[in-house]
Amino acid sequence: MMLELESVSHRYGTELAVDDVSFGVAEGELVALLGPSGCGKTTLVQAVAGHVRPTAGRVTLRGADVTDAPPESRGVSVVFQQSTLYPHMTVDENVAYGLKARGVESDRRADVVSEYLELVDLLDQRDAYPSELSGGQRRRVELARAVAPQPDVLLLDEPLSALDRSLRERLRDEIARIQRETGVTTLFVTHDQAEAMTLADRLVVMDDGSVAGVGEPRTLYGSPPTPFVASFLGRSNELSATVVRQEPLTLALGGQEVVLSDSRVDVSTGSAISCHVRPDDLALGTGGAPGSDGPAVSVPGTVTRVVDTGRRYDVTVRLETETEVVLEQTETPPATGESVSVGLLEADLTIFGADQRDRLGVDVSSI
Ligand code: ADP
Ligand code: MG
Repeated sequence: MMLELESVSHRYGTELAVDDVSFGVAEGELVALLGPSGCGKTTLVQAVAGHVRPTAGRVTLRGADVTDAPPESRGVSVVFQQSTLYPHMTVDENVAYGLKARGVESDRRADVVSEYLELVDLLDQRDAYPSELSGGQRRRVELARAVAPQPDVLLLDEPLSALDRSLRERLRDEIARIQRETGVTTLFVTHDQAEAMTLADRLVVMDDGSVAGVGEPRTLYGSPPTPFVASFLGRSNELSATVVRQEPLTLALGGQEVVLSDSRVDVSTGSAISCHVRPDDLALGTGGAPGSDGPAVSVPGTVTRVVDTGRRYDVTVRLETETEVVLEQTETPPATGESVSVGLLEADLTIFGADQRDRLGVDVSSI
């Protein structure tokens, strides 16, 4: 691993901001550190950059312990949410300044500056001052300044959060390209799950100072390890169920029995279970018993709300069990007040124990 955090914890006074966090970033990898505001992301960035000495744990770069090393001795560059360009320096001087700080010889600096300004497509703005640039151009100068010294690790702490949506999407693609072309090991911090899922090779999802899940975006989305990850990575409907029988595991869900043909689950008969299912995995029907090729479970309900999002319809259905679920569909939806049935396949169910914390020892995606 290029970067490794081992059981890192940090307290501000008595507040535990980061609680026993461990994960690594491999050479050339782009990992997104994703979580809601206040969950400890910036504290971790500062611990890697060397601006915060963690209360406990270790940070290693290329296998060497840098927990106590000063920031300037680590090969780490950081881009923050707010611009840190020097207003009295030109674009060229800003990028060169970073190289000087890293000990690049003065006769090589001009070439390196040109190379990286070309990478971000700003060569023609090299004599401009930051105030003469657009917000997007300033971000690109900061990216050039950060990658020009060829750091071991590039830390991007919510670099797009202060920008408007269309610019954010364009720069997100730009970051992906720059990362691919330079191969720089990158930790990209964001609270935006769509941004993280689009960019990252792997996600580290954080919840309240702790790691809630690590994995490839598609795997974490399809098979979330905790209810928090299920609901944070896109929308998720929660349904409650009760364990009716073991081997094969049989759940009572919406007045019906669902057989999960994998019996490795460690739950006792009669216990409550929380099931999560994605809005696009639910199917609307007009009723009738589920057939062999139809959904495994079909729960009757009433449409309470239909929202046209432009690309699809979000249909809210109040089930007979009193739970409300949201379905996504592209076809013309039924009207509010109509009686419908909501069908789902057991393979699309992710089940969690009643303690709402640990995923049960079953890979529901293979059921
Ligand atoms: P994030 O970047 O995910 O929003 P932070 O790492 O900034 O989270 O903050 C994590 C927690 O630590 C928050 O509750 C925040 O209020 C607290 N915190 C962050 N920095 C400081 C600080 N310098 N002094 C005291 N508390 C802090
Ligand atoms: Mg932050």
